[in-house]
Amino acid sequence: MRSTTLADGSPVTEDHRELKENGQQKGYVVLSEDERAKGFVRPVRRSYLHLKCGGVTTMGQALAETYAADPFFYAGTFCATCRSHFPVGDDGQFVWDGTDIKVGT
Ligand SMILES: [Zn+2]
Repeated sequence: MRSTTLADGSPVTEDHRELKENGQQKGYVVLSEDERAKGFVRPVRRSYLHLKCGGVTTMGQALAETYAADPFFYAGTFCATCRSHFPVGDDGQFVWDGTDIKVGT
């Protein structure tokens, strides 16, 4: 199993999925810095578009690098406009901003 941390590099906590007032989780799991240093299979992309609302969300570098290292790592992601999480992948609701490429593929 690949080692993981929260996005700020701290250990994964049991309550990281609890939601804050803005709809985001307390913390997001990412591949550890060592795992990300092994290389990427996709470009590092920071922003994605939610097809349902047209809103663009930009994420932190550790999350972006985790998608680049393992495009299938996440089942869903946050939309800053809807303030909620929705599925990614072939049948998901997000494309990388400026492309037709689905997030999580
Ligand atoms: Zn949205």
